[in-house]
Amino acid sequence: MTSAQLKKTIRDIPDFPKKGIIFKDITTLLKDPKALKSSVDILAKAVAKAKPKYIVGIESRGFIFGTAVAYKLGLGFIPVRKKGKLPYKTTSVSYDLEYGTDTLEMHADALKKGDKVVVIDDLLATGGTVAAVAKLVGGSGAKIAGVAFVIELSFLNGRDKLKGLPVFSVLQY
Ligand code: AMP
Repeated sequence: MTSAQLKKTIRDIPDFPKKGIIFKDITTLLKDPKALKSSVDILAKAVAKAKPKYIVGIESRGFIFGTAVAYKLGLGFIPVRKKGKLPYKTTSVSYDLEYGTDTLEMHADALKKGDKVVVIDDLLATGGTVAAVAKLVGGSGAKIAGVAFVIELSFLNGRDKLKGLPVFSVLQY
């Protein structure tokens, strides 16, 4: 599918979860078999070039695309989850939200020094989430070969928070 065709499968929800935000609803993309296949194929093609050992996916929509890409490329998948969800020993990172802070966790033994990973999420907005995950992954001594998204909200300049990291997105707004 072309970018224009893919964009038609994403639904804009104004004022969700709060006033002023236009939420990019990807459930309509996921429901469309051609759009799901095409978005995963485009992501996987870009990710393959970085030759990672693992895909790190960010809860929860990063799990959908991250696992599909890992499966397609024959790689392992590592989940980064919201606080309190992972059962084994974890490392964690806290980051600022517009109001308050949030914490993300990864299993302490998930990555080893020198492991090469690509981080996947559905959408890059301000870059705060993926910058925090980069810190978490970096703390384990693993190397981030790139970060990849289905959607990039370019007007929020999220790339500026990810200096030095190769960023790939399927669709830009
Ligand atoms: P950020 O940390 O600002 O880059 O936000 C990225 C995270 O928030 C991703 O996990 C997105 O799923 C979610 N997100 C932020 N803005 C939107 C939006 N306009 N539509 C859908 N999801 C969003």
